[in-house]
Amino acid sequence: MSQGWCEAPWRTRLLRRARVPAALLAPLAGLSPRWAELRDDLTHWAGVRKEASAAEWRRATSSYAVLVYHRFAGELKPGQERIDIAPRRFRRQLRLLRALGFRPLPLDELLAFHRGELNALPRRRFAITVDDAIADAVEPLREAASLSPQLFVPTAELGGSAHWIDGEPVAGWEEVRALAAAGVAIGSHTRHHRRLSQLGAAERDVELVGSLAELREQVPGASAVIAYPNGDHDDAVCGAAAAAGYEAAFTTEKGRNDAATDRYRLRRVSVHGADGALAVLWKVLTGEALPAWWPRRSRSKSR
Ligand SMILES: [Zn+2]
Repeated sequence: MSQGWCEAPWRTRLLRRARVPAALLAPLAGLSPRWAELRDDLTHWAGVRKEASAAEWRRATSSYAVLVYHRFAGELKPGQERIDIAPRRFRRQLRLLRALGFRPLPLDELLAFHRGELNALPRRRFAITVDDAIADAVEPLREAASLSPQLFVPTAELGGSAHWIDGEPVAGWEEVRALAAAGVAIGSHTRHHRRLSQLGAAERDVELVGSLAELREQVPGASAVIAYPNGDHDDAVCGAAAAAGYEAAFTTEKGRNDAATDRYRLRRVSVHGADGALAVLWKVLTGEALPAWWPRRSRSKSR
């Protein structure tokens, strides 16, 4: 079992943190493979904790969550309920996280952590990412610039309309440059927002390499990071992203990230239009979607 800390769901991580003795689960292990798996997991991590130096343990158990947003209109058009959030709601979410001691993780620290230059991260670190560069994201991003958000732009679609989201207007390079100047990290979302795993190698590489070149030309100081459109990726896509010169890549697989997470498969959790501040707190803590028992507000109250 050489998997990273965050491969397991939050419940398991909590039991590891609480140092629940594996022996306690021994009587249950015979009941089902799940209990046996949990017992083995706790045994494994208790062993790791015993063997590891303090610094090694801190590195193995350091992790962070990444939120992903798209639109900031709060219109909740049919089909956009999961990707559109009212700016007021976004501000409330950030206020609560801040009040509870959560601090943004700037991209350079995130990369340094994965490279091993930064051994561990303080607790309660999270990153804000926004995909697509839809025009209504510009103002909320500018307001939140001190929280080191990251914006992923489809470089050949800027100033046009988003063929992948109902033709919504996409911000232009001027706006993207202004955001960069305000402190927003700008990364790539390919050139045309196409599903990379479905392209031939040549086309895929043009999307990856071309977009990074355009980004560097248009935004001095742009970051060599990418968010795969629709989160779509496979081994070939991840390899091509690395070969194109990207340092890291974000998917839409849920979960938190730790030092063992493949940095070309970084996990993110999406914030939906109806998510209140507590829902976002849950997502930041666990990196996971809301559980089935979560009390959901009705649409009419969601603004
Ligand atoms: Zn996108």
